[in-house]
Amino acid sequence: MMSKLKLLIVEDEQAILQGLVDVFIYHGFEVDSADDGKVGLEKALTGKFALVLLDVMLPSMDGFTICNKIREQDKNLPIIMLTAKSSEEDIINGLTLGADDYIAKPFSVRELVLRVNTVLKRSKPHNHENSILQIGHIQIDTANLIQLNTANPYHFSRRELEILYYLQHNSARPVSREELLEQVWGYKQADAIETRTVDIHIAKLRRKIETDPKQPTLIVTIRGEGYRLIQTNK
Ligand code: CA
Repeated sequence: MMSKLKLLIVEDEQAILQGLVDVFIYHGFEVDSADDGKVGLEKALTGKFALVLLDVMLPSMDGFTICNKIREQDKNLPIIMLTAKSSEEDIINGLTLGADDYIAKPFSVRELVLRVNTVLKRSKPHNHENSILQIGHIQIDTANLIQLNTANPYHFSRRELEILYYLQHNSARPVSREELLEQVWGYKQADAIETRTVDIHIAKLRRKIETDPKQPTLIVTIRGEGYRLIQTNK
């Protein structure tokens, strides 16, 4: 029998926490929880978990700080932030700090379970594992998510590599934000905040791969259409 995937849920509102624990146990996960920020961080760094659901407002340490500290030590652990309802600032903050996804409270349980499964599917090893991705003059070790041949290499998230692969595969044409959301994030219908998350990820990628992020020559913006990867080795 396959062993169950372990989730960590960090949430201080007992009613929400208990509800989430029950739902994910029902869906076949093994679940551990913390109702305190520091305890949550300690548990998250044990390496036992397949994914962390992370509330923002928590006692002793907030979710953004936790997310940041997890990313300092573990680039791969999938994190989904539970953000306040329609707080765009929270969402953008979380994604900038390296969360894989977010869901706004109050959320539908069905949608949360879907998001968890989507993020888990994406974080599984892909067939382009253990290879080198070449974008312009940049080489990325896709197994270790790190830039090669440079003294101060950038780290990349899995999501960022997925975006680069998708743009590279479709470099003959511009790719719209909606298409990226559907193909890379697995979102069926994008809202305005989700569309902005694409721009945030592209901005982060440009800071890593462009010589001048303000004058991009690798990931260029095609007005009214989206983004296009320019494939030249200059
Ligand atoms: Ca809370």
